[in-house]
Amino acid sequence: MTVQDQAAGRLSTAPAVHSAHNYHPLPVVISTAEGAWVTDVNGRRYLDLLAAYSAINFGHRHPRLIAAAQRQLDRVTLVSRAFEHDQFEPFCAELADLAGQEMVLPMNTGAEAVETAIKTARKWGYEVKGVPAGEAVIVVFDGNFHGRTTTIISFSTDPDARDSFGPYTPGFRIVPYGDADALAAAMDDRVVGVLIEPIQGEAGVIVPPDGYLPRVRELCTQWGALMIADEIQSGLGRTGATFACEHENVVPDMYVLGKALGGGIVPVSAVVSSAAVLGVFQPGQHGSTFGGNPLACAVGREVIAMLRTGEYQERSAKLGTHLHDRLAHLPASAVRQVRGRGLWAGVEFTAMTGRQACEALLERGVLAKDTHGSTIRLAPPLMISEADLDLALDQLEAISR
Ligand SMILES: *Cc1c(COP(=O)(O)O)cnc(C)c1O
Repeated sequence: MTVQDQAAGRLSTAPAVHSAHNYHPLPVVISTAEGAWVTDVNGRRYLDLLAAYSAINFGHRHPRLIAAAQRQLDRVTLVSRAFEHDQFEPFCAELADLAGQEMVLPMNTGAEAVETAIKTARKWGYEVKGVPAGEAVIVVFDGNFHGRTTTIISFSTDPDARDSFGPYTPGFRIVPYGDADALAAAMDDRVVGVLIEPIQGEAGVIVPPDGYLPRVRELCTQWGALMIADEIQSGLGRTGATFACEHENVVPDMYVLGKALGGGIVPVSAVVSSAAVLGVFQPGQHGSTFGGNPLACAVGREVIAMLRTGEYQERSAKLGTHLHDRLAHLPASAVRQVRGRGLWAGVEFTAMTGRQACEALLERGVLAKDTHGSTIRLAPPLMISEADLDLALDQLEAISR
């Protein structure tokens, strides 16, 4: 490694020896962060336009969230669900209220919440809808991303996520995303749930056609299936509303939440639904040692309180308009397509891979992440200033010339 490399923050380019190679991080080693900025081990600052895939919606170390965590660290952090604690019921009540639903089942990671949603839909299907034992079907979509567990990757259409991890969990039906007729054709009496990202994040920020989510809602109602909105990435302010479903006035039967719910401090996820649906669980039938722990609930409550102000959703909508205005003016010779909503965009390049674009942005002090092929994902913290956003977009323009 050269001195110049060190100065440029490339300390991580040496191949990782002691960690599995399940990621290919950009060559930057971060040591501190605040708001929309991170600083590497050499003191170089970068604007974080990924925000941990939306887990940092409120920016790094938001003072309100840090204070809530610190208060709880001084009280109690973990009791397990064997006992009650005083943050649990308020967290569940406040989250249910935010989502206009009745009941919450807290977990830790997004994948666990999706697994919980799948188990809920199946149990509900057998016990409430009356589907014959072992025959429940959950409809999912081409290009989906719902996490990395063996059941979830069983219905992934991404070979990297799926290949060599079989045998696969049965019970899923995959249909094209954004095609209401294809969904209609896939519905029958055995369908207990339709698991959908209102905007597909990992696939490259794919926004379905107008009117599509309302059709999904109608088909679920018509066939007596649960509409399960995976808003782990799209929810909690990212698209300029609390939930991406709101843009189409759609209310799903179940929200799956994660990422930003933990304020970038602890992993917090949850399934939020009606009492008729989540009421299917009896003691011993599902759980998690860490799910709904006091620290998670305290941080989650502060996240909910911050969302309650509407300030972050408004910022995302307003700055999102600015972001998409500027992205629309990128040269057509360099950029094939821009997609997204609010402070969330997928930018697809013509002559660069997403990885090359991210490396070029890194050189210019901006962190972003490629998704598939030639697309990068932009998801700045919702508290980013317009000036910082413009600074980052100037760099994006520079690499698009
Ligand atoms: C990130 C993500 C998940 C998985 O969350 P993890 O916390 O990484 O397990 C599931 N669904 C969507 C839409 C996501 O973006």
